[in-house]
Amino acid sequence: MITLELQEVEIDYCTDCGGIWLDAGELKMLLGEPEKAAQLLNSFKNEQTSGEKFRKCPICLKKMCKITVGSSKPILLIDKCRKGDGLWFDKGELQDIFDRAKLDKDNKIQKLLADMFGREGKFE
Ligand SMILES: [Zn+2]
Repeated sequence: MITLELQEVEIDYCTDCGGIWLDAGELKMLLGEPEKAAQLLNSFKNEQTSGEKFRKCPICLKKMCKITVGSSKPILLIDKCRKGDGLWFDKGELQDIFDRAKLDKDNKIQKLLADMFGREGKFE
């Protein structure tokens, strides 16, 4: 994992799998718009039955839980530390969040992804 400082937020990026770790509160900061942020964060739901492998939190090293974001299909599943250390996004999931939350084009998430992956913010 490498640490990048982009858009005033420190993010950890795994160069092997393309995953992104955000500390608690950083997603909210990136979302910026308080209403959309609250809407998105309130849509988080614990998902007990996912077939996805559990990941370990890079901070406390405990198994993280799976949560779904929003209700639209296909279901978007991300990993969250049970102690609240932060969130893990597999490759492409942060872009997915951005699309689903219908954020403005100049939102920090889009800028951050553009900084990381080029102007389109798309994963190659
Ligand atoms: Zn943790």
